[in-house]
Amino acid sequence: MKRWVYLFSEGSKEQRGLLGGKGANLAEMTKLGLPVPTGFTVTTEACLDYLAHHNQLNAEMKQQVAQAVATLAEKTGKTFGDHKNPLLVSVRSGSKFSMPGMMDTVLNLGLNDETVEVLAKNSQNPRFAYDCYRRLLQMFGDVVLGIDNSKFEARITALKKAAGLKYDNELTADHWKRIVSEYKELYVKTIHREFPQDPIDQLYLAIEAVFGSWNNQRAKTYRRIHNISDDLGTAVNIQEMVFGNFGETSGTGVVFTRNPSTGEAGLFGEYLINAQGEDVVAGVRTPKPIKVLAEDLPDQYAQLKAICEKLERHYRDMQDIEFTIERGKLFILQTRNGKRTAKATLKILLDLYSEQIIDEEELVNRIEAKDLEASLHPSFDEKILAKRVPFLTGLAASPGAAVGAAYFSAEAATEAKARGEHVILVREETSPEDIEGIAVSEAVVTSRGGMTSHAAVVARGMGICSVVGCEALTVVNEEKIGTVGKEKIEEGTILSVDGSTGKIYFGEIPLEEVTSTVALDELHAIWDRHSQIKVRANAETPKDIAMGMTLGATGIGLARTEHMFFEKTRLLQFRQLILADTLAERLQVLKELKKVQKQDFKFMYQAAAGKATTVRLLDPPLHEFLPKNDSECREVAKELGKTFNEVKRKTDNLAETNPMLGFRGLRLGVAYPEIYQMQAEAIVEAAVEVAQAENYVITPEIMIPFTIDANEFARVRGAVEEAVQTYLTKNELILNYQIGTMIEIPRACFVAGEIAQHADFFSFGTNDLTQMVLGLSRDDSPRIVNQYLDAGIFADDPFQVIDEAGVGAMMKIAIKNGRKVNPALKIGVCGEAAAHPKSIAFLSQLDINYISCSPFRIPQAQMTLAKAALATSAK
Ligand code: ADP
Ligand code: MG
Ligand code: MG
Repeated sequence: MKRWVYLFSEGSKEQRGLLGGKGANLAEMTKLGLPVPTGFTVTTEACLDYLAHHNQLNAEMKQQVAQAVATLAEKTGKTFGDHKNPLLVSVRSGSKFSMPGMMDTVLNLGLNDETVEVLAKNSQNPRFAYDCYRRLLQMFGDVVLGIDNSKFEARITALKKAAGLKYDNELTADHWKRIVSEYKELYVKTIHREFPQDPIDQLYLAIEAVFGSWNNQRAKTYRRIHNISDDLGTAVNIQEMVFGNFGETSGTGVVFTRNPSTGEAGLFGEYLINAQGEDVVAGVRTPKPIKVLAEDLPDQYAQLKAICEKLERHYRDMQDIEFTIERGKLFILQTRNGKRTAKATLKILLDLYSEQIIDEEELVNRIEAKDLEASLHPSFDEKILAKRVPFLTGLAASPGAAVGAAYFSAEAATEAKARGEHVILVREETSPEDIEGIAVSEAVVTSRGGMTSHAAVVARGMGICSVVGCEALTVVNEEKIGTVGKEKIEEGTILSVDGSTGKIYFGEIPLEEVTSTVALDELHAIWDRHSQIKVRANAETPKDIAMGMTLGATGIGLARTEHMFFEKTRLLQFRQLILADTLAERLQVLKELKKVQKQDFKFMYQAAAGKATTVRLLDPPLHEFLPKNDSECREVAKELGKTFNEVKRKTDNLAETNPMLGFRGLRLGVAYPEIYQMQAEAIVEAAVEVAQAENYVITPEIMIPFTIDANEFARVRGAVEEAVQTYLTKNELILNYQIGTMIEIPRACFVAGEIAQHADFFSFGTNDLTQMVLGLSRDDSPRIVNQYLDAGIFADDPFQVIDEAGVGAMMKIAIKNGRKVNPALKIGVCGEAAAHPKSIAFLSQLDINYISCSPFRIPQAQMTLAKAALATSAK
């Protein structure tokens, strides 16, 4: 006989697949001896069987459920429908992966017209009993029988209005009794069916409803967004009810073992005295911060704290825990690894490591690339922010900063996003139906709800900035308007939302990129211990270099000097250089250019603060710099004091059919050695001056691009070295410097041994190498590559992931040839493809010293290298 049902005392946390996350953890906590109300789990396999058999629970399942209910009765001394001691249970869904709010829960199941009286008598609290009953009618109606919840809520609202009352907790026993009979009428009126009085019927129906909810639209959407398989199914947990709504020594709450926004240690959460179930997360009443529980119920708080610590150690992760206190007795209803921001993830893992709960290897392996990426969230420009006054403030639920246009519904948000707008979703509160709207928004703002409300939890999970519980805000969804006192937010109103402070501003505030990352520094120190291969930055402007350093670059692997010429006046000078007719004219321009280049290099060396810096000499595909048409020629002619015809003739002369394979890189250096000489002088002079001023040791690394031949390289190196030596001798200076080359053309790979006789280092330029190894134009590749990806010919775009079989093989040849001649040869790889995690898996196996990539990819690259190194050493 197949087992469809497990008691909590029979399972463990390893059985997430079979029992669902919630069930597996309830079992685990039971095993640990924690105060968990007794219960059992109907498996995910039962769900799949149910869905596969026309939504029918088979007889075996029903029989096993009935058997488990009997066991529950034995353990609790309560039975279904009993006139002395009725058993009441919750019916809760739980799949393998936590899907907050996706599936539905029914509480107080087992109540009927008779047991409600017993509960009233036993508790001596009829108000409580009828409140429980109406909740059952409401949840059962909504979840199991599909009666719209708003219909129920409308009855309560009407009654409160008639009685002149404002809050639910002002309603008396008689009020709730009235509500109960109205709800029963509502059943008959809307679905022509009575509320089932037999608890076991209620139970089977509820189980079926939970199973069925696996396929509701909300659940499907959630799974699609989070890449969760549709074939897992959900389990159902049936558990004895405990009551947080029993009076002033009862309550219910949610607690995180650490702060889910910042990762800071210490309990973080909310609770409500005298409340049940989802009151806390629904944002109906404003809950109290968990710390206050230490005053309200000190013993229970201490016990809760101890349990939190125990669970955290046991699961080796921050926990998100649901608890209920019934007349002074604490119960734990759920634990799971808590959702948190990326920034919090880093802090939590580092803290768990320093608290010796996890070891270094686990720390390295548990951080994901997306955590690093998202921890580099932008913030508002401080200076501008200081001058602005927020018009609205709420709880800082999920950090980051965002600017966008306000929209009041998920649909409107989705449409606006499709139009290309940046969207801020503004709502009273959010619910699972809003998921898609949240996913397309830059920020989510709500007027109600606390730090554990739906909006807060979901936004944090998705790394979306969010401010919740903005009490001054009134949202009227139907009118698409939000009011804050006299101020109005309308559809399309531009807002700036600060999820780190909870402040909201009218209009746009400019965003600033990340500058300080304390956690990253610690992480880099650890990654560094595990990986021989280091990471440098591709950067040339002081701002990018500084960013690279902040993000952990060990140096600059590629500073592209042609990028320094795109600015307007320099572009002109550069054009003058390439259009010059005589050496004298060229030298004249070069003198001017050298001044600005030297200044550039000084800024660079200062920003690099003594770290290794590879400067690549000019590698301009000339066509990027030439005037593009007659009118530009005319303009250039005017600016340079030449005739149109002169400029035109020269431009036509220089025009190439295939500039990517043309007069590029050191081919320019062969033709006009004075250009590279000027650059080399500027580099060395800048290095000397900065080294003296700042007391660094700087060893300039001068990189010559586009080499195909040893003689070619030796010749250009000679010219460069001559200029450097002349300067050093004249000034009686001694300076270590290195001159190396890019390896980016197939021939260079084959003759790498000969080149290495003259070169101090190699750096693979994977963009050009890919272009030439695959015969695939960099600039025109997307059309072809996309077609190849669609057709399944390529698994990845070779310009994003290094093509191992071709480009990779070529690199191996070059490394082998180079190292044979010069074992001390320093070898790097630059180009964006180097930083892709898949490329790193390959590169980490090569005998290279560093890879170089754009600043924002550095942490991820260094981490992936460390993971790869750990995986290799584990083999
Ligand atoms: P979700 O997956 O949406 O968090 P749960 O199954 O955890 O749904 O149920 C929602 C809420 O119902 C819980 O937070 C808890 O407060 C309440 N609840 C569930 N089971 C019980 C129980 N046995 N006794 C009291 N309250 C319960
Ligand atoms: Mg729920
Ligand atoms: Mg829960």
